[in-house]
Amino acid sequence: METNQLLELSEQFGSPLYVYDAEKIQSQYHRLEKAFSKVSTLRINYAVKALSNISVLKLLKQLGSGLDTVSIQEVQLGLMAGYLPEKIIYTPNGVSMEEIEEVAALGVQINIDNLSILEQFGAKHPTTPVCIRINPHVMAGGNSNISVGHIDSKFGISIHQMPHLLRIVENTGMHINGIHMHTGSDILDIEVFLYAAEILFDTALHFKDLEFLDFGSGFKVPYKKDDIQTNVEELGKKLSKRFNSFCNEYGRDLTLCFEPGKFLVSEAGYFLAKVNVVKQTTSTVFASIDSGFNHLIRPMLYGSYHHIENISNIKGKERFYSVVGYICETDTFAGNRRIPEITEGDILCFRNAGAYCFSMASNYNSRTRPAEVLWYEGKGHLIRERETFDDIIRKQVVMDFDTAPVTV
Ligand SMILES: *Cc1c(COP(=O)(O)O)cnc(C)c1O
Repeated sequence: METNQLLELSEQFGSPLYVYDAEKIQSQYHRLEKAFSKVSTLRINYAVKALSNISVLKLLKQLGSGLDTVSIQEVQLGLMAGYLPEKIIYTPNGVSMEEIEEVAALGVQINIDNLSILEQFGAKHPTTPVCIRINPHVMAGGNSNISVGHIDSKFGISIHQMPHLLRIVENTGMHINGIHMHTGSDILDIEVFLYAAEILFDTALHFKDLEFLDFGSGFKVPYKKDDIQTNVEELGKKLSKRFNSFCNEYGRDLTLCFEPGKFLVSEAGYFLAKVNVVKQTTSTVFASIDSGFNHLIRPMLYGSYHHIENISNIKGKERFYSVVGYICETDTFAGNRRIPEITEGDILCFRNAGAYCFSMASNYNSRTRPAEVLWYEGKGHLIRERETFDDIIRKQVVMDFDTAPVTV
């Protein structure tokens, strides 16, 4: 999007503001589709938790996307956005049997990631097709908070528990229709990914009635100019070829699934915030914005980098700033960052603000959450109103202590 368009949106809708560029979401979707055009059936299930606004879900539905969900509420959002239950896969972790049964009753594809639930579910619902999430124990991704395939991970059924898993499936007579893995975020080495895929193929051969293989996600997106990113095209070429040969061996064409979150929406997002105060100290210049980790927690939660531009002064002379929030706790978005000269009232623009930004926002410090705008066909559409004080108080139950208790 153009700087002046973003600036106009911040004037029109106020600050702070999340803006999502529909065209970028569409082009990323098509890019992935194209990279895997050689497989007979590809399914892209958008990971709702990255950005769960219903209008964004509807935009993706238009493109033919399915959904990857991790809670019954995400399933409900998907159904509300008009997705058919069979276009939704539910991949919970540590969720109760009751919730899983409730989701299964809606006709949504269940993906189970532990033997205890698998055994209970199989015994009670032997005819409901179930996908199983395996842990291939492949170390992928660069950040231990978001690396979920390794040996200590709580996610998935260990491939070393295969004999036990097969016994459960045989004893219950349940129908396994898919095998799934999600090794974690930020996959940079395609050979590592292909190695994990081999483990999934090996596992798949144990099951006769599969319909799909789900390779999860982990596509790394660029955060800076010339940043490393997953080479989706190369992955598409190599994995498609291997997938097709596997289908031959298996004796049937299977559907290849992916469930990207970040890849589809990260770069489409812009977070706009206004500078309230410029404060010179002995060591640095702070630029305090009208936001904090209540609106964008990724830099503080796992040190993620968000490029910051001063869209009110694009051509200004660059200086060093620490960009901080207004939360009464340290909340540094960026330390020692070169940014064109900042004046109070300027609008700063944070890039890569589509994934895990609004969806992780909270009301900490009793602050309201920002509005969201979808930039679609050259126009800004409000897709979530800015919260008000009423939203802060809505669910609170106010006790009355005015009547003094009677003491005898
Ligand atoms: C979070 C998650 C994803 C999406 O991961 P991204 O890194 O955003 O692409 C996919 N699958 C599962 C099971 C997840 O939990």
